Amino acid sequence: MHRGSTISSSTDCSDTAVTKPPSIVVVGSVNLDIVASAEKLPRPGETVTGATLERFPGGKGANQALAAKRLGADVSLVACVGDDAEADAALASLRAGGVGLSACVTHATRPTGVALISVSADGENQIVVAPGANSALRAADIQLPPADGLICQLEVPIAALEYAAGAFEGLFCINLAPALDVPDSLIQRADLIVVNETEADFYGGRLEQSGGLVARTLGARGAELARQGQVVARVAAPVVDAVDTTGAGDTFTAALTVALIEQQGEEAALGFACAAGAAAVTRAGAQPALPSRDAVLRLL
Ligand code: ADP
Repeated sequence: MHRGSTISSSTDCSDTAVTKPPSIVVVGSVNLDIVASAEKLPRPGETVTGATLERFPGGKGANQALAAKRLGADVSLVACVGDDAEADAALASLRAGGVGLSACVTHATRPTGVALISVSADGENQIVVAPGANSALRAADIQLPPADGLICQLEVPIAALEYAAGAFEGLFCINLAPALDVPDSLIQRADLIVVNETEADFYGGRLEQSGGLVARTLGARGAELARQGQVVARVAAPVVDAVDTTGAGDTFTAALTVALIEQQGEEAALGFACAAGAAAVTRAGAQPALPSRDAVLRLL
């Protein structure tokens, strides 16, 4: 594991310390979320009309990459998209936000991942995900630029993640979401695992196989950090007016990784991540709600 460092400027002969931003590579999913808002959700076989349609960039990999960038990191995304207009729409905010996309690959035949989301007036939803090109990300596609940290989630093939984790030498964070079976080797390799309460229940004692840190997020109650089953820090989330919790876990994961690379202490890093997660729930949507570093510091 190598950590972010503070380097002194040696070229201008001044004593000014220049803090190098953490560098992070994210290997993960890119989706376009297509959201139809209707008065009510259809029952099986029923057609509901009168909906309004919106398109939002999404995918846990894309969200976490942009979250880390907004928090001050230099970020590259390794992902697989289709050769289609949906890819342009899905990557637009990342491109505008300054996330490096040169390691993203375009699949010749599979479409960009799409999540079809129906939302009713009373806030219920139905979601169908067509992962498309995300399912085609292969180990051979992965070119890892040198970086302080690697962040992965479980919306791309596990074989690709195993390859990335094995090839990478820095701090390896894995957000075990959505919950699904993973090989022990990934858990053992992780320096940082992030799970919410549902995922923590799914993996249970297996998480203690990791010698690294395990962060369990607790929604509005905040989060706790443990090492081999022993809690080492617990932080309450700042009280905010929650508008939309989409992307809270993605923001938390990116923020905790950034803070640990910056060598913030464990409790301070957890506090930073909880404030970032809380800031993300104060605005609608996933990527539009990702907070800047200043917005997080204001909440602390
Ligand atoms: P996920 O979105 O993965 O289910 P959580 O709901 O546990 O994850 O949220 C992740 C983090 O976001 C929490 O640890 C907390 O810091 C913050 N958060 C989520 N919901 C709220 C809320 N209602 N108020 C304040 N902070 C929140």
